[in-house]
Amino acid sequence: MAQYKNGSYLNKSDNAAYDTKHAPGSEAPNAGIYRCVACGDEIGIAKGHKLPPQNHHQHAPGAGKIEWQLIVFAQQKK
Ligand SMILES: [Zn+2]
Repeated sequence: MAQYKNGSYLNKSDNAAYDTKHAPGSEAPNAGIYRCVACGDEIGIAKGHKLPPQNHHQHAPGAGKIEWQLIVFAQQKK
């Protein structure tokens, strides 16, 4: 599970970007931390970089398919 120390650096948001599940190998639409819906593994990734494909993240048989869901969005200044 993602961790933090100072909660004043994080804002809660209901943005729909947090609801979308992304396939392995697809481009991350936002910079931030993503978690695998099936196993809870987490990664940090830059915007536009490819989410880890199947062969970078093995599941035990029957653990379900890999899908990445945004959990923390890194917000850049405009
Ligand atoms: Zn996983």
